Amino acid sequence: MEKFLPKILDFIFPRHCCICNRYLGDSPYRYLCETCSRGIIFLGSNLCQKCGYDFGEISFHGPKLCPRCRERGEREFRFRALRSAVRLNPFAKGLLHRFKYENGEYLAQDLCKIAQQNSAFMELIGDSIMVPVPLHWRRRFFREYNQSDLLAQRLAKLPIAMEVLPLLKRIRHRRPQVELRASERRTNVENIFTVNPKFKIPFSRKLVVFDDVVTTGATIDECCKTLQKYGFSNIYAATFAQTIKD
Ligand SMILES: [Zn+2]
Ligand SMILES: [Zn+2]
Repeated sequence: MEKFLPKILDFIFPRHCCICNRYLGDSPYRYLCETCSRGIIFLGSNLCQKCGYDFGEISFHGPKLCPRCRERGEREFRFRALRSAVRLNPFAKGLLHRFKYENGEYLAQDLCKIAQQNSAFMELIGDSIMVPVPLHWRRRFFREYNQSDLLAQRLAKLPIAMEVLPLLKRIRHRRPQVELRASERRTNVENIFTVNPKFKIPFSRKLVVFDDVVTTGATIDECCKTLQKYGFSNIYAATFAQTIKD
């Protein structure tokens, strides 16, 4: 019955693509048609070993570090490495916008299916405790769910020995980062997180700070800084999509 029920439901209520609205045939996704899914650009393997910046076709000698990580090193990003599943192109933007603002909980399954196809991303999140970037309760109240937490919970269902813990809390409410220039973002997020002391985790445990998108890296780095100050030493970061800006 478990196998037939979805098929019967699909027959009565045909599913359609969340982007182009066409009815779905045999698409591997729940709410994304085959044609639209070609808009996904997976991040390849030619990446900055620290921040995951995609070098594309440029070939390298020596350590694979982007100019930003090479010059500013540990002062720039506290995480050991960051990996994202896809590039933040207009297609990924559209998908994440639906996921975030248009009651898109139903899309979590498809986003998980997309992320699963990137082996560098999956390898980084494996055997870890995932720490979603927290929303302030006021914002969660209006949006009803934290999209990073929702996606992390989905990924945790895969057989990769990963669990999700809300280890960080947001203690201050600030302006959304999207409204700010890159140069203002760091000060805007300073000291806005704290570690929830109720979870007793060894400081050497592998943690992965997780968000849906990374652009300047300011929010993610602030999360890592908070965890590091508390005593954690094995901190990584992952996002669904990325576009690292200088
Ligand atoms: Zn479509
Ligand atoms: Zn880099």
